[in-house]
Formats: sequence, C-alpha cells, structure tokens
Amino acid sequence: MKKAGIYQLHDLSLDNDNLVLNETIFHNANGYIGIRSNFEEGYTEGYDTIRGSYINGFYDFAEMKQAEKLCGLMEEKQTMLNVVDSQGIQLILDGERFTMFEGTVLESKRMLYMEEGYSARNIIWRSPQGKEVEILIKRMTSFVRLSMFTIEYKIKALNFEGDVTFLSTHKGDVMNYSNPEDPRVAGESFKHLVPVCAKHIGSASYLTTDTSKSELRVCTGVDHMVFSDNACQNSKAFSAADALMRNAKSIFRDMNIEGHQAVHKIELKITQGETVSLVKYTAFSDSLHHHECESHVHDELKNALAVSMEALYEEQRSYLSDYWKNVSLEIDGDDELSLAVMYNQYQLIQSVGKDKYSNIAAKGLSGEGYEGHFFWDTEMYIMPFFTLTAPEISKNLIEYRYGILDQARENARILGHKKGALFPWRTVMGKECSGYFPSGSAQYHINGDIAYAIVSYYLATKDVELIQEKGAEIIFETARLWIDTGNYYEGQFHINEVTGPDEYTCLVNNNYYTNVSAKYNLYWAVKFYHILQKSEKLQPIVDKIGLESSEIEAFIKAEENMLLPYDSKLKINPQDDSFLKKPIWDIEHTPADKFPLLLHYHPLYLYRHQVCKQADTVLSHFIFEDAQSMETMRNSFEYYEKVTTHDSSLSTCIYSIMSSKLDLKKKAYMYFGDSAKLDLFNTHQNTKDGIHTANMGGNYMAIVYGFAGVRIKETGLYFSPFLPEQWNSYRFKIQYEGSLILITVDSNNVKFELVSGKEKRITIYGQEFMLDHVLNIRNIRN
Ligand code: BGC
Repeated sequence: MKKAGIYQLHDLSLDNDNLVLNETIFHNANGYIGIRSNFEEGYTEGYDTIRGSYINGFYDFAEMKQAEKLCGLMEEKQTMLNVVDSQGIQLILDGERFTMFEGTVLESKRMLYMEEGYSARNIIWRSPQGKEVEILIKRMTSFVRLSMFTIEYKIKALNFEGDVTFLSTHKGDVMNYSNPEDPRVAGESFKHLVPVCAKHIGSASYLTTDTSKSELRVCTGVDHMVFSDNACQNSKAFSAADALMRNAKSIFRDMNIEGHQAVHKIELKITQGETVSLVKYTAFSDSLHHHECESHVHDELKNALAVSMEALYEEQRSYLSDYWKNVSLEIDGDDELSLAVMYNQYQLIQSVGKDKYSNIAAKGLSGEGYEGHFFWDTEMYIMPFFTLTAPEISKNLIEYRYGILDQARENARILGHKKGALFPWRTVMGKECSGYFPSGSAQYHINGDIAYAIVSYYLATKDVELIQEKGAEIIFETARLWIDTGNYYEGQFHINEVTGPDEYTCLVNNNYYTNVSAKYNLYWAVKFYHILQKSEKLQPIVDKIGLESSEIEAFIKAEENMLLPYDSKLKINPQDDSFLKKPIWDIEHTPADKFPLLLHYHPLYLYRHQVCKQADTVLSHFIFEDAQSMETMRNSFEYYEKVTTHDSSLSTCIYSIMSSKLDLKKKAYMYFGDSAKLDLFNTHQNTKDGIHTANMGGNYMAIVYGFAGVRIKETGLYFSPFLPEQWNSYRFKIQYEGSLILITVDSNNVKFELVSGKEKRITIYGQEFMLDHVLNIRNIRN
C-alpha cells in the first residue's frame, strides 16, 4: 500500500480556465496563510485571474446592501481579505523576459508533493532568440513557521551564458476578486486596505497596511537569498545583500520602493550548465495574532534566513510525516481515487486554523469563494476528521466558537430572542454575514450542529475539562435558544419558520433535521448539567449565565415532546410539515445546463417544489441513526434520492455513508467517487474559486463512517466494515479516548491493532470485544 504522494500535471494548457483552476489546485497553505498558485511571471494581457494571498480570520467589514431596510437585517458583513502580492518574480535572460506565452515551452509540468509539503513548476523554455533554460520553482508555506512563505526559483542555463536579472515584486496595494454574476463569490470589490508604511530594513522590504474598518493591521516582509550550484555544494549560501561584500559571486542588487510596492532587482552572471537559485522569503504577521507585527515579521525573516532551505524542507517533511502517520488512510486498489482522497486530506491540514482565533473556511485558504466564511461545514463535515485523527485541532475549533459566543448571544437578541445564543450561519469573527436570510440566518440548525460536534468531541476524547470550561456553556446557551424559538402545539414541541440544511427548501415548520438536532442538543444540555453537578464544576457556569433549574426542566420537557415529522403512508420522515404537499421537481428531464438550479431558477420557484440541493433528512439519519427504524431510514433514503440534485458539494458524501449503512455497496462507492473527485477533477466547475473543504471532510467520513461503519456513541465505539469490491484493502487509524487504533480491512478479515494507549472495549458487527493488542475478525459484510 505505498502512497505516491505526488499529484502531477503534464503539458499544461494555457487556457484561461485551466490556469485559474490550477491556481486553486496547487495553492499553498498552512492554516494561517494561503497563497494561490499564480505564475510568478504573470500571464498575458486579457487573462482573468484570481491572484490572492490570505490570512485565516483576517477580515474587513464590507457593506451589504439591503434594498429594503427591514428590522434586524444585516447591513454589514465580514469578508476575508487578499492582503498582499509577493508572488511576482520576473526572470530576464540577456534582455529576454521569460513568459510561457512567448518563445517555446519545451516541457512544462506542475507537481504537488503531499508528503514533502510543497508545490512545484518545472519548465524547459527556449527564448525567441534561442536561449534554453530549465526552471524549477518550489513554493512552500511552512507548517512549522506559520508566517513563512518561500519561493525557491532555480534556473539552469542549458546552452548559453550571460546576464540574469530577477525582478521580484512585493505589492501591498491589492484588492479582492469579485464576480457580480455569481452569488457564491463577492459581487463587488472594495478597497479595504489602507497603506501605512513601506520601507526597507537592510535587504528586506516591509509593507504595513491597515484595514479600513475592522481596525486590523497586516505587515509582510520580503527578503532574498541567492545560491549557485557551487555554493550549494560547499553548503555555503550568500545573501543578495552581502554577496558583493563577500565577493562570493558578482551580484548586483537594488530595491525600489514606490507607493506601496517594492521591486527587488537582483542581477548576476550565469555560465553554461550552471544552476542558480533565488529564494524569496515572505513573512506575514497580523494584529489578530501579534501585538507588534513589524518586529514579528523581522524576527521570522531573520530566523528563516538563518537556516538552510534544506532545513526548512526537512521541518516540513517531518511535520507531514507525523500527520500522515496519524491519519494512515491508505487504499489499495484504485490509484486514481486513492490519490484524490490523499489530496483531500492534504487540503484539510492546509486549510484548518491552528489556533483558537481561526477556523476552516468553506474554501479553505485557496480562494475567495464564500468570502472566507466559516459555516456549519466545520462542525458537521470537517471536525469528525480531526476529532478522530488530531483532536487538538477540534479543540481549537470549539474554542473558536466559544470565542464568538457573546456575539452569538447578541445575534439571538437581534432576531428577537430573549434568551440563549444563535451562532451566525456564516461569519469570520462572529458577526452574522448572510445577506439572504431565508437560506442564511434562518438555518438555526447551526446551533444543533455545534452542540453535536462538541458532544462528538467529548465522546471521542472524554475531555471533560473542555466541557467544564467552554463546551457546556455553549450547549446550555444553544439549548436555551430552542426553548425560546419553539412552542407547544397539541402537546408537541414545534420549531417553526427555520431552514434546514437543504437550501432549496426555506423557511419551513418542523424541519426534521433541525428538530432532531435540537432534541439532541437539549438532551446533552441536561446530561452535561448532571455530569458537572456530580463533579461540582457546575456552579461557576450557572452563576455566569444565570441558569435556573426550571430551565433544565423545560429542556427535558421539550426534548421529550419534540415533534419529529413522520408520514405513515410513505413510512418516511418528511423533511418538514409542508414538503410532501408540494409538486415533485422533474430532475430527470431538467436540461443538464440548468444545474446547479440556484443559478437558473428564482428561489421561490425552487421552494415551491420537492427538490433538495443536498442531504437533509438523509444526513440526520446518518448522525442520529438511533432515532428511527431501519425501515424508515431506507424508505426515506429511496424517497429523497429521487428529489436531490446534489448541487451542494456537501451531499454525495452523505449519500455514500447512508448507502453503506443500508448495504447498497455499489451506490456507496459511486457517491464516494463523486465526492472524492470533486476538486481534483473540478466536477462542480467552480474549483477556481477555491476547494470545497466540507466535501473533503465528508469524503473521509464516507470511508471511515461509511465503508468501515465507525460510530462513536455514549455506549462506546462501533465498527461494521466492508470492503468496496474495487479495492484489495484499506486501512486507517483513529484516536479514541487517548488510544490509537489501526484498522485494516480486506475481503476476508478485519484487523484491529492497538497502536498505543490503553485497552478498549469495542463493538464489531454487533459483538463486543476487548482490544488489548490485536484482533482479527472475519469480514462478514463481503
Ligand atoms: C451549502 C451549504 C454550505 C455552503 C458552504 C452551500 O452551497 O448549501 O450547506 O454550508 O455551501 O459550503
């Protein structure tokens, strides 16, 4: 089961759409910064490109125009900013400028090294005058030094000698991308950055910029080193700044700062057969994370320049080697899908914030789709992956939600609630940012999702401390909100006028998904109340939020009487009170070019039909499988499958998991394949705006929760694995209550190995076992 770990593209077309797509596919990120993979030398006139560098959680406020100023509608949103452009490097060979659009490209490929942690371009170019040069460009955003982005630009003179000039740019006056035609990206672009200072310290340029409204600051610093192959052999590098002084190689260096832009000029001579490298270092710092951005940039640059590039690559390799060791998801049998799955996991670690100030955006740090906003995607699609493979990251994500709890309380007041907190449907730092409330703020299920994720984290880790300090407070406040939102009617608790996950059905009464997750939220509020009461940790929270015992009684009553819609004729859970009364959309006869429907039909037209953008009730059957009988879940699956377009990337992975549960193995694999390939094969045609992180987490779930049938419940850890017929075997590791377990599935056997930690009682195919070393169980599902 050897992983190649390299994604490679040959013979790249210079078609605009392809270039923009590859900016996303090959982007570099580390959870703090993300840089799209634009050509260093730029494109050619008329090309529409998205050139961006982003910081997780770094935003400005932008106006959100509401044509009618109804009470409580948001008029301002937070938007992730493109903060700088330090990607530019022009290469000039004896007066001839390298560009992919002139001369002859003799070879061109792009690579993403997922075990090494960098992307690369490799080009052999013949200039119009016949100079041949081999260019190898490696880009890396360091997982160990989160501020650092490096471009190593190596050239080999194949048939000439002469002058080489690098013009390396550092631009601070940048803007965001916009497209008024597409509701999934910002419609307009504003100038958000106000230049504060541009200067040089030694050979480095420093640009400091403030946001226009959010009172944040970003500082970036750029410096360079130059290496020749001789210097490399002697393990000696020389910086452009002091090369002349050392007289190691004749290098001329100059810097011009004008406005908010620096141009570094580096000139040297190259001989035939010689290899010369320019390394460009960019350090990022921002005031959300650091008090003194400029001195932080200074220190980071100094530290990075003090070690060799090889040492920086080694740090990266070692970080990723630990990461892959923890995940250990390997598939033997379908190389293409296996690579796509690895790509997805690589993107998850590239995208997720590594501290409590940041989260994981719907598009990670790869593009500007959804304006860098964080959604329920985090809790329902991405946290399951981290909870099982790197629980400390899930802990950060919970702490992030705790950090915006006050704003969630405020948001609840704006919507008229007297008690509780309502988390924003989409946000950067806590403010509700949905402009269209029917499929935005109305998605109250985000409260249930956050509660669910906290409980899942607790069940997998038993980290009661986090519950005491932060988790329980969130769960009490979200539970309060359900009480404040719902009402009793004929003895049952109803939740009206909300939107479930399916955004083609808005503002409905008793959305099954919402009600069942509210029920779970209320159940766990009561449960945590008693757990903390027993450990005498309850009082500080009760005092802080004024929680009364009568509220706990209200939680119990609403939980017990929650209405969960059921249709006795069809024997399914209707998506909501009115869903089944609407005409069914004819998906089969809808022309292919009319998908996604949201781009072609008025929302009201969609809302009046039985048509789902994504898994809704089917998702709830996966996460709350004990709430319904197998028969209801099977009937519902068959019903909703016919009316679901999967226009959202959050859908097919869930259909795969439920197909696995219902033993529809072929279907499970088909849906899994769709979700695995989504970005690498651009199947939704919008990867140019960024990757789909929720789908990537969901794709992991389709293997672990789907094929392997993993469930973590109050009653323990469960497995029910089968092997897709296309594979020879697969394996993965999960962390459970501090123990690390490796699971290997082939068509005959399932092997469980306790890699580290204490013995665990686990349930396999419904039978309990004690895992204290190795268990070999016959695979009874193949
Ligand atoms: C989906 C939402 C999702 C959002 C961001 C939308 O298309 O319908 O469920 O949260 O994308 O990924």
